[in-house]
Amino acid sequence: SQPTKVPRTYDEVQVTESSQQFIAEHYSNRSNQTIEEREASPIIHLKKLNNWIKSVLIQSYTKKNDSVIDIGCGKGGDLIKWDKARIGYYVGIDIAKGSIEDARMRYNGDASHKRRVFSFPARLICADCFTVHLDEVLQDEAPFDVCSCQFAMHYSWANEEKARIALQNVAAVLKPGGYFIGTMPDANVIVRKLRETDGLEFGNSCYNILFDDYYYEKKFLPSDPFGIEYMFHLEDAVSCPEWLVHFPTFQALADEYGLELVYKKNFHEFVHEHIKNPVFAELMKVLGALGDGMSKDTISADEWDAAYIYMAFVFKKIGPSHIR
Ligand code: SAM
Repeated sequence: SQPTKVPRTYDEVQVTESSQQFIAEHYSNRSNQTIEEREASPIIHLKKLNNWIKSVLIQSYTKKNDSVIDIGCGKGGDLIKWDKARIGYYVGIDIAKGSIEDARMRYNGDASHKRRVFSFPARLICADCFTVHLDEVLQDEAPFDVCSCQFAMHYSWANEEKARIALQNVAAVLKPGGYFIGTMPDANVIVRKLRETDGLEFGNSCYNILFDDYYYEKKFLPSDPFGIEYMFHLEDAVSCPEWLVHFPTFQALADEYGLELVYKKNFHEFVHEHIKNPVFAELMKVLGALGDGMSKDTISADEWDAAYIYMAFVFKKIGPSHIR
């Protein structure tokens, strides 16, 4: 049976209808860090590990000259990764206006971003990718070889309509055979950790996850997989409502839209698997996320535990593109 609705305990944010706007404003208002501030961050090694994981995904599923659409591109933090993959064209879309402005500055160069001449033309668009059908905002750029959605897909899981529009958009913009690559929280791990605690809250010095009292029975029904909200706080990064993504439902919906699951791994397994590749091991050394075991300059136990709440996924587009 459904848990009985009891009053909410968390009221840091009024989240319901206005949650997308809250998310947009939250990301828009995040200031850019200087290199010094970034290096002093308590989660610097986690950030570096996330960058390594995104780089590995990008390098594994992108070919030279590919056209790429980046959904929830944020401040354009992955532009250099795409440049290194020598892509041919890039479209980045994000709901946060301030982030798109930052991404434009990163691409065009400004006082705080040294001018880097990117080898690909780019278009940066502000739009809600989980409400709007992307053919309304794209010109004649689609279809794309690769669609990337890094740490953003879970914001579409607020309700079934958004989740469907998100996956429909991905499928619609991809060429047959094109890849959909992404990262998002691992709902299995989050639910397991929640059930291991006495209350509705868990975390460590890097992150905190808080569920509403509504979930006091800690039951999550596969028949009701949308709108399972929690507050997520990542030290020095985000404090936002997020939604659990029940992966079997995600896969089933993706399948409906012609996206076939190719790969799915928790970040811990992802690291163990890809670090064996000498090219990626070298990249890890360059990025400096994991030390050599001898120095202190390595990921902390709490950061490594925070990495465990994420997963990476890859889907392949089967059949024709649906862009109208
Ligand atoms: N992909 C970037 C990265 O890996 O650094 C940014 C990730 S950030 C955690 C999540 C991003 O998703 C934010 O920039 C946020 O504005 C964006 N986002 C959330 N909801 C969105 C929506 N409905 N449409 C487009 N972007 C959205």
